[in-house]
Amino acid sequence: MTDHIKTDCLVIGAGPVGLFAVFELGILGLKSEVVDNLDKIGGQCAELYPDKPIYDIPGLPSCTGQSLVDNLLKQIEPFKTPMHLNQRIESLKKVEEKWEATTSLGQIFLTPSIFIAGGVGSFEPRKPPIENIIKFENKGVSYAIPNKEIYKDKTIVIFGGGDSALDWTVELSKIAKHIYLVHRREDFRAVEHTVSLMQQLVKENKVTLYTNNQVIDANGDECLRSVSIKSKDGKIEILDCDDVLIFHGLKNELGPINDWGLGISEKQILVNTENFQTNLDGIFAIGDIASYPGKLKLILSGFHEAALAAQQAFKRAKPDENLLFRYSTSDKDIHERLGLKK
Ligand SMILES: Cc1cc2nc3c(=O)[nH]c(=O)nc-3n(C[C@H](O)[C@H](O)[C@H](O)COP(=O)(O)OP(=O)(O)OC[C@H]3O[C@@H](n4cnc5c(N)ncnc54)[C@H](O)[C@@H]3O)c2cc1C
Repeated sequence: MTDHIKTDCLVIGAGPVGLFAVFELGILGLKSEVVDNLDKIGGQCAELYPDKPIYDIPGLPSCTGQSLVDNLLKQIEPFKTPMHLNQRIESLKKVEEKWEATTSLGQIFLTPSIFIAGGVGSFEPRKPPIENIIKFENKGVSYAIPNKEIYKDKTIVIFGGGDSALDWTVELSKIAKHIYLVHRREDFRAVEHTVSLMQQLVKENKVTLYTNNQVIDANGDECLRSVSIKSKDGKIEILDCDDVLIFHGLKNELGPINDWGLGISEKQILVNTENFQTNLDGIFAIGDIASYPGKLKLILSGFHEAALAAQQAFKRAKPDENLLFRYSTSDKDIHERLGLKK
């Protein structure tokens, strides 16, 4: 069994609000750990609009989704906060005055406070409703690539026509034996440059392209051996392969959060506006997932919510210490925690 990770606060969600919560906790001297279901940090900003400019972050006239995430990561660098990606919190259990949270990979955290900064819920891959595809999940069929090295010298079938499918086709073509790219439509939704790179790989016979085709079956015994695809005009082909990668986009699900006994209304968690605590002691909700009268689903609102929740998390982590109001401009403890020279 995995050892419990003890921390002052567990942050669920590595979106902008979860990241800023790490900062607010850090300058109060609290340690945190972050868990996110995705394989990358940054929530909606990184996943949905990395290149779009945002104009309403205070003090930043314009920054892209990705540059905001990069700056938030820079801001929390001094705290060296562990980020546990590719896993979501499945269950919560009260253990005396603390919470025990278990992830889908079996990692267990023990903490007095949990910040749910889950945005619009965990982004889940869209899966084709095919029994055999589900059967081969993690035995050849995947929806993300935590480690590209496992695809070295392999024959891979990639499904999809967006940025992820094309980026990975180009990237994996450098190490894979061969790639079949299968797309349901004729046109691609990826950036033009990547589409051109992919077309060049097709010319070089490193990639075989099937448009107007979709997956209909997966075949094999213990391990995947091949997938069957069907074209719009009904032609079926079997592609022998070692691995299948499906990039059909993401959908949002609250998932297990629904089962934790929290007050939930219209897929958002009800909180008080004094400290953004939910109906459960020590469980807070901040950012897009929080609901209260007048809530605006904006990044700046989430930043404010994170600051107030962190104050309450301090009281729970250090009940015997006084929490003083301090400015970052002049407070020596904050400077020390940020690693600034005296
Ligand atoms: C196209 C677009 C443009 C936008 N433009 C602006 C703008 O100009 N200004 C502005 O202020 N806002 C804008 N927004 C909204 C802004 O992106 C959100 O308000 C912000 O991302 C909310 O941050 P968050 O950290 O609360 O949640 P998110 O960014 O949604 O991040 C939540 C993270 O939590 C993870 N997660 C969820 N549940 C779990 C779980 N159970 N276990 C593990 N991980 C979990 C998710 O995978 C995700 O990474 C825009 C949104 C979109 C889609």
